[in-house]
Amino acid sequence: MIRFGPAGNSPLFYENGGKDSSQVPAWLHSLGLNAYEYQCTRGVKVGRAKAEAIGAAAAKYDIAVSIHAPYYINLATEDALKKINTTKHLLKSLEVAGWMGARLVVFHPGAVGKQSRQAAMERACTNLIEILTVAADQGLGNILLAPETCGKQNQLGTLDEIIEFCRLAPGIVPTIDFAHLHAISGGALTTGSAFAQILTRLEDSLGQAIVQKLHIHFSPVTFTAKGEKAHSSLLEADPAPSFAYLAALILERDLQPTIICESSERQVLDALAYRNLWLEQNNHPA
Ligand SMILES: [Zn+2]
Repeated sequence: MIRFGPAGNSPLFYENGGKDSSQVPAWLHSLGLNAYEYQCTRGVKVGRAKAEAIGAAAAKYDIAVSIHAPYYINLATEDALKKINTTKHLLKSLEVAGWMGARLVVFHPGAVGKQSRQAAMERACTNLIEILTVAADQGLGNILLAPETCGKQNQLGTLDEIIEFCRLAPGIVPTIDFAHLHAISGGALTTGSAFAQILTRLEDSLGQAIVQKLHIHFSPVTFTAKGEKAHSSLLEADPAPSFAYLAALILERDLQPTIICESSERQVLDALAYRNLWLEQNNHPA
C-alpha cells in the first residue's frame, strides 16, 4: 500500500479545531491520508502517555507513524559533548518511536564542519554503529534508523553517503528527500529519468526490498548555489520537483512507499494533492 501524509501538524489541523497530536490520526484518516511524521525536530519533548495515545490512535485509524529526530544531531561532530548529546537524542527518538509504534526514525546525519568530507563520514559511521549497539542493548533494535538525503553542501547526506550508512547494518534504511536532492543538484530533477536513476541506484546498492518500502520526503523547494533555501509549496508558480514523475515510477515499478509531504504550511493540502495525482495516474496510466 502506498501511503501519504504530512510532516508534523499543519496549520489546517488547528484551523479545523484540532488541539492535541493524539487527535491527528483520526483527522488525517477523515481526509483520506494514512501516514504521519511526528516532529521531534526541536527536541524530544513528548512524554510516554501522550506518545502512547498518539500510537493507539494511529493504530486505530491505520496511520503509519514515523519520527523525525532533532536537528541537533551531528554524527560527525568532533566535540565530545555534542557526540554524547547526539547519542542521547537518537536513543530518545527511538524510545518515543517504540511508544508510538513507529517503524522508523528519520534524522539528518550531520555537518562536515572543518574536517575533510571523508573524515566526517568515517566518524559518522563509527558513531552510528556505536549507537545501534546501545539501541539493541536497550531493546530498541527493532526500530529502523533512517538517515535522510540532505539539501546543503556542508551537510553529510548525498545519495551515495546515505547508501554508505545503510550498508553498515540491516537496521539502517534511507529516507529519500527528493526536494533536497533537487536542491543539492542545482535543480536536476526535471525528468522522469532523473528520478528513475535515483531509484535504480538505490535498488542496485541496497536491494529491491528497501526501494519497495521506501520512506520518502516530498515537497517543492527553493535553492541557491549552496543548496536548499526553503521548502515551499504547490502554491509556488512553477513548483519543483514535480511529483508526477515519481508517481509514474511508483506505478511502473509497483512500489509501496510512504510519502511524507513537508510543504511549508501546506503539508496536508499538498499531501492530498500528491495523493490525488497518484490516484489519477493509477486510474489512467500513461
Ligand atoms: Zn529532515
